[in-house]
Amino acid sequence: MERELACEIVKDLLPLYVDGMASDVSQRSVKEHLEHCEDCKEVYRNMAFRLEEEAQPIEAGEVKRFLKKTKQMYFLYGLGGLSFIALLVCGIVDLAINKGITWSLIAGSAVMFADALVYAVSVCKRNKALVTMGIISIGTFLLLIAIQIARYYLMHVGTFWILHYGLPILLLWLGVLWIPVLCRTFLKWNIWDCIALFLLLVIAGNYGTKLITGDYGWEEVVHMHNFVGNALGEVIGIVVFVIIGRVKG
Ligand SMILES: [Zn+2]
Repeated sequence: MERELACEIVKDLLPLYVDGMASDVSQRSVKEHLEHCEDCKEVYRNMAFRLEEEAQPIEAGEVKRFLKKTKQMYFLYGLGGLSFIALLVCGIVDLAINKGITWSLIAGSAVMFADALVYAVSVCKRNKALVTMGIISIGTFLLLIAIQIARYYLMHVGTFWILHYGLPILLLWLGVLWIPVLCRTFLKWNIWDCIALFLLLVIAGNYGTKLITGDYGWEEVVHMHNFVGNALGEVIGIVVFVIIGRVKG
């Protein structure tokens, strides 16, 4: 009877004992009891095993998350370090040849731009495409201006081309990139239709660029001059992607 009572008390205490939450005296008594009571030992083993099983998935998930975060962090630090070295080297070269802003500094800012892109994309959770496009737009815009300033004003090479060709062509191609991304983000188009639309806009972009550079006049653009050379590849792509979109959708 006394032994039965002891077993009942131990079984009541076991959850606390397994969690390590029982008082020192209870902890010791339960441990002693378990040493010579097979019944309670069996109950204890089951309880401990179940607890371990419950705890594991959470722990494994947490470890995975932690590792992923750490990996991402090292990646970003590595990237930041590399760009810093690149910029430092560029700065030293610039000082050594005493030329103010040079190509090496432009290359350095290109590295920073690429870093900012990778960083933003890896950090942002929503609207990745929009954020990427935003950075591409601002970054290319700034780079274009930097190249113009460096070449024309500081290195005295080349002509003032940014307003005649640079910005119009950049805006044209940013539009080609932005429109499909906007359709995807806000109109929820499927990805294949977005690619098809992109290719359609590339055709317009090709003709638009030739118009801006003066290779073609309006007459040639309206009649889609040299269609095979300028647009056939894109047309084939459009047909293929629209078909894929219909089959998958
Ligand atoms: Zn017992």
